[in-house]
Amino acid sequence: MTVEFYYPQGKTKALTFSYDDGQIHDRRLVSIFNKYKVKATFHINSGQVGHPDFITREEVRELYKGHEVACHGVEHRYPTHLPKELLINEIWEDRKKLEEWTGQIITGLSYAFGELGNSVVDTLKSLGIQYARTVNSTGGFSMPTDFMRWNPTCHHNGNIIDKAGAFLNMPGYMRLPLFYVWGHSFEFARENNWELIEQFCELVAFKEDTWYTTNIDYMNYVTAMRSLIFSTDASRVFNPSAFSVWLGAGEDITELKPGETVRLPVKQGIKE
Ligand SMILES: [Zn+2]
Repeated sequence: MTVEFYYPQGKTKALTFSYDDGQIHDRRLVSIFNKYKVKATFHINSGQVGHPDFITREEVRELYKGHEVACHGVEHRYPTHLPKELLINEIWEDRKKLEEWTGQIITGLSYAFGELGNSVVDTLKSLGIQYARTVNSTGGFSMPTDFMRWNPTCHHNGNIIDKAGAFLNMPGYMRLPLFYVWGHSFEFARENNWELIEQFCELVAFKEDTWYTTNIDYMNYVTAMRSLIFSTDASRVFNPSAFSVWLGAGEDITELKPGETVRLPVKQGIKE
């Protein structure tokens, strides 16, 4: 019997956004995302908050409510240029400030200038960073293999309208596609193309089969899914995580709750 995995509530596709730098144009972008009920992550340089053209610390909590606030380095410095003490400070102080302003635990990051290397990744991990986004577009919809080198589908100037068409008409054999769009809100202001993101949201929002999620919620779910423990014959499965995971065997889709073990297929099986 084949066990199939699903996104939360049995959904089969996921969409997430990541917008960097925390400029004032985030206000308009958030209002568009809220209108379409899609979720995003905003990667912010805490040292630039309050400066001209950037959001203020007082508005961080309210503006991004329902989305994720995450790190981008205090001063937007090249992670690969910094000696370790400065890199540690760049990230740790960013976490501290953003946590203070939001009241949340902040463990996400996008690499300033998209720059990374193995020693940067090791340092970030030691600072509690759980995922980090690159600027290397895959052009596809695959689930990331390494959340510390999380490659997005594309920048919003990467033909997102065409890609939305592909995403909406995904062939059935493509399991658990993720559409991940990144960019900067100031680019819409600079290029005067706000209609691009409106049009994109119009196309992809309010779909029954799609999970609209922040980066961190996506990572948490996929990590929980990958950490399920199966018996050798795959007839029993235990969820050791703190997140429900949705899976199916045959026609059934079931929610496997945190700490729960079930016998598959659930239809004939007994919850243990
Ligand atoms: Zn940036």
